[in-house]
Amino acid sequence: MPERRADLHIHTYFSDSTMSPQNVVREAKKARLSCISITDHDTVDGIPEARAEGLKLEVEVIAGVELSSEYGKKDVHILGYGFELKKSPLALKLNEMQQVRMERMKKMVAKINTLGFPDIRFEDVASRTRSNAVGRLHLAQLLVEKGVVTGIEMAFEKYLGEGEQAYFSKFQQTPAEAIKLIKDSGGAAVLAHPMLTARDEIIPELARAGLDGLEAYYPNCSMEVANFYVRLAAKHGLIITGGSDSHGAGKKNTYIGKGYLPYELVEELKKRIHA
Ligand code: AMP
Ligand code: ZN
Ligand code: FE
Ligand code: FE
Repeated sequence: MPERRADLHIHTYFSDSTMSPQNVVREAKKARLSCISITDHDTVDGIPEARAEGLKLEVEVIAGVELSSEYGKKDVHILGYGFELKKSPLALKLNEMQQVRMERMKKMVAKINTLGFPDIRFEDVASRTRSNAVGRLHLAQLLVEKGVVTGIEMAFEKYLGEGEQAYFSKFQQTPAEAIKLIKDSGGAAVLAHPMLTARDEIIPELARAGLDGLEAYYPNCSMEVANFYVRLAAKHGLIITGGSDSHGAGKKNTYIGKGYLPYELVEELKKRIHA
């Protein structure tokens, strides 16, 4: 029997990917994955549709989310897995987080308008997602379409990156609070792409706050870096996960099935899930 593989970090058009949940599952099937997780930014709206398609195509779909948090002005993403979807503390908090995202986007658009681009409209940004989880990638895409910048990277470098002209932060939620929400909802909490976040010094503190794992396997990152996080996870009694962070056409350097995880590590993750 061939090795079973999982991709535990995938976005849909309910946050900032261009792909529908159904399409994600179909692509996963093509990539010979037996298990995926939908991990949209601050929304779980794509999960039911992915599950329904997963049942048809025999692809296991684990409930997931990528929660935004902040530590010392730096974005820290916490992945949640296997939590209770309905009426859990996490589910309730997501509505609030999405409202904050909408208000923040209004401020970002207003700032862009004052920088000499009056025809960028909030409604046109918000309509790029199927939920209320509107984000910077949506605005970046509109800025490219309107010719304000020549590419997504330039949009972040000039306007939307942390500390740039049109940047506004989101929440006062700390990584420890995000972890608590996930744990209180029966799920497992994993630090997303630690090699990008580059705040390794907070890992011991997050482990004490209940963190379950590190996302050691991530696309476009060397085996050396991955192994560094595998060792760090072992040192703190954490599991390891991995995934592609696919955003469909929204991100060119990755795709579903890139940076897959052997299924034995999904079994380890499931031991940490209580929902
Ligand atoms: P937000 O959650 O609204 O702060 O937006 C964060 C998202 O924007 C990330 O998860 C990525 O999808 C995207 N993003 C952030 N920085 C960049 C970048 N330099 N290039 C492309 N996409 C980016
Ligand atoms: Zn994203
Ligand atoms: Fe992320
Ligand atoms: Fe992501």
